[in-house]
Amino acid sequence: MSEKCILCKRELKPVEIGATKKFIHRASTEYLCLSCLSKEFKVSEELLLKKIEFFKKQGCTLF
Ligand SMILES: [Zn+2]
Repeated sequence: MSEKCILCKRELKPVEIGATKKFIHRASTEYLCLSCLSKEFKVSEELLLKKIEFFKKQGCTLF
């Protein structure tokens, strides 16, 4: 069974689960999709994706 966004109930991609853990809480078991995350933080999805890319390059294990 795949995880769903707790706000909009959309099915989540692994990267969105990683992003929730990174930006909200590492031990979180409730996840947000990128568009809900971007609303939550009042930033663009594009900016979140850029941050994710940045963390990936640093070797972050959440992505
Ligand atoms: Zn959502």
